[in-house]
Amino acid sequence: MNIQNLTIDTIHEGLINKEFSCTELTKAFLEKAKKENERLNIYITITEKEALETAAHVDEKIARGESISGLEGIPCSIKDLINTKGIRSTSGSAILSDFVSPYDATVVQKLRDAGMIMIGKTNLDEFACGGSTEYSFVGPTRNPHNERYTAGGSSGGSAAAVAAGTCLYALGTDTGGSIRQPASFCGVPALKVTYGRVSRSGVTAMASSLDTVGPFAHSCRDIAHVMNTIAGSDPEDSTTPEVVVPNYLHSLDESIKGLTIGIPKEYFDDGIDEEVKESVHNAIKQLEKQGATVKEVSLPMTKYAIAVYYIVMPAELSANLARFDAIRFGTKPDHTGESLEEYYLNARGEGFGDEVKRRIMMGTYVLSAGYYDAYYKKAQKVRTAIIEEFNTVFQEVDVLIGPTVPTPAFKLGEKLDDPLQMYLVDSLTVPMNIAGLPALNVPCGSTKKGLPIGMQIIGPQFSEAQLLTIGHTYETHS
Ligand code: GLN
Repeated sequence: MNIQNLTIDTIHEGLINKEFSCTELTKAFLEKAKKENERLNIYITITEKEALETAAHVDEKIARGESISGLEGIPCSIKDLINTKGIRSTSGSAILSDFVSPYDATVVQKLRDAGMIMIGKTNLDEFACGGSTEYSFVGPTRNPHNERYTAGGSSGGSAAAVAAGTCLYALGTDTGGSIRQPASFCGVPALKVTYGRVSRSGVTAMASSLDTVGPFAHSCRDIAHVMNTIAGSDPEDSTTPEVVVPNYLHSLDESIKGLTIGIPKEYFDDGIDEEVKESVHNAIKQLEKQGATVKEVSLPMTKYAIAVYYIVMPAELSANLARFDAIRFGTKPDHTGESLEEYYLNARGEGFGDEVKRRIMMGTYVLSAGYYDAYYKKAQKVRTAIIEEFNTVFQEVDVLIGPTVPTPAFKLGEKLDDPLQMYLVDSLTVPMNIAGLPALNVPCGSTKKGLPIGMQIIGPQFSEAQLLTIGHTYETHS
């Protein structure tokens, strides 16, 4: 069967009208996933058996004449940082290469209850630390638009899984840009949610005050479908407040007339690629045609965001990764050594990659006695100033729009020798993690070389529905 150009709605219609069975559909997506996986290295594990079993259940239900829900029978992929019961969940690390999770993350449980067909677990940088998947223990995912380029990271596998047409939607995580940056590089819409909008229970923690889980899909409409299932408070995650979850599909077609879009001038300065600037400006013009007004604003604190992030994130990461000691969690080292200390050193020395080790060292340094005040405490103060700056600007404008990433995708290997260059890729995405704000990547063109460009629509906390309305308006009018 032809699986191109399907949407969540058209599959749903096709299933209930018996145009195809869920098993046929799933087989077609599995075949595509295997083929693209050979070319692009998207998946760490393809979950063929589970996918076909669930598909058979959906077919039985339809045969019995029972109704099925909107996401039932829809093929999807899950980042391997998100734990799945009975299925290997590696977090992209050699230290968890044979870890099988004893339980499902809340988001996975919700999607299972909704009848998802999980095609596989996607590739990522080790423990989500990176921006190219080159730090994954199974090697990098390649960009579906050009195999010599990175798919981005850390959720590069999830972005490529959707962009290459191996599933309808995918889940990723975003701590400093790991959903939006790969989405921008691969040319798919994707949403980084408000901190606390989606449960993180069962998701391997990177930096707990920054981590979020969110969807990639082929359209804002399909993202809205997924949000309707995964958003909301969870008793297993105390950072998910009881804020009402709107129906994200209902507001999609609302008019954007009268909306004020802020254009932060720092997001268009000299460091930003010319083709990226042009595409984002053109997209904003399209939104003006639909009735939005535009206002230039300034966010001078933007330049401090990376510095704050590379103190707060490693501090939290070093604490979170302490649990991987190869006693409770983690693969036993080849040489156990003579003492407990030697055991730890061997296990963590063998199990973690260089970038993760670098961050553990940075994190323990900034938290150590004597440096805590100079680094960690100071970073927290600047964090507060960044939050206040956003609060002030959102009194003047409804949303902000700028490029998601300063450049299109870079070549594989290009930034491997210089971690700082890799860190700077996140300059426009980390501010929203620092402030806990939602931001939506929407593809808005491509370079002369054919690499996708993305814009990011940023809003106040819990404004996801509005961001999706704007994204949907752009998709349907451009
Ligand atoms: N690229 C960023 C980093 O390396 C973001 C990671 C993320 O969002 N998980 O930390």
